[in-house]
Amino acid sequence: MSVLLELPSRPAPQDLTGRTVLVVHAHPDDEAIFTGATIRRLADHGARVVLVTATGGELGEPKVPLQGRTVGQLRTEELERAAELLGVSRLVLLGRRDSGLPGWESGRHPRALVRADLQALAGTVARLVETEQAEAVIGYDADGIYGHPDHVAVHLLARYAAELTGRTSYEATVDREHLHFAGAHVLDDAVKPIARPTYGRVTAEIPVALAATPAELEVKRQALLAHASQITPEMLSDRFAETYELEWYLRHGPAAALEELGNAHALV
Ligand SMILES: [Zn+2]
Repeated sequence: MSVLLELPSRPAPQDLTGRTVLVVHAHPDDEAIFTGATIRRLADHGARVVLVTATGGELGEPKVPLQGRTVGQLRTEELERAAELLGVSRLVLLGRRDSGLPGWESGRHPRALVRADLQALAGTVARLVETEQAEAVIGYDADGIYGHPDHVAVHLLARYAAELTGRTSYEATVDREHLHFAGAHVLDDAVKPIARPTYGRVTAEIPVALAATPAELEVKRQALLAHASQITPEMLSDRFAETYELEWYLRHGPAAALEELGNAHALV
């Protein structure tokens, strides 16, 4: 199913000491779901990873008691724990509010990410790129992987920031052909209310993929479970490795740190 796993040789990962990658996500938990193994490997090979999370995920239905906290507060705590597990060097919260799904009243909230001036917010992210001297910005594909309005906004935000600074832009996606044959993915439920028939890209559209080692995959699982208000162990038990070991990226601009991560080969 995966061309990647059939490649005859995998060059050893480079030493990335002194290199920095900025990773932009929409909600707490997206960093673990879509880029957890990538972040862990970057950190393990010496790179500095700056994680930028745009919203507090305030509209995620909590699966645990809040114990006096708001959903946003709890999810921020979970994000801090996940970031620590993944080896993130700096966590930046943009402080926007979860916009919810298309048509929801929440999208009209003044702090909703979809109400933000994305060019202005991209300027903020671009300044961060410059301050951190990041060589690449990771965001999402043009559909926000599965169509959530906040994810589409993050696509634009990361893309604008990369353009403003002239850096390589990686866009996290998923290989829907691979996932079709894998176990249950959290996207399977997430995509249902979006009124889209599908998510991600097909294999031939994806130039870069990374396969987690067993150790990286275990850290990714722990990072996912750090988001206990959203992700329960039962949600991950079905063929976990097959479903979550690969992470996929589109790329605009020259190859950068991700292509130096050992098995993050160009596939097409
Ligand atoms: Zn999200």
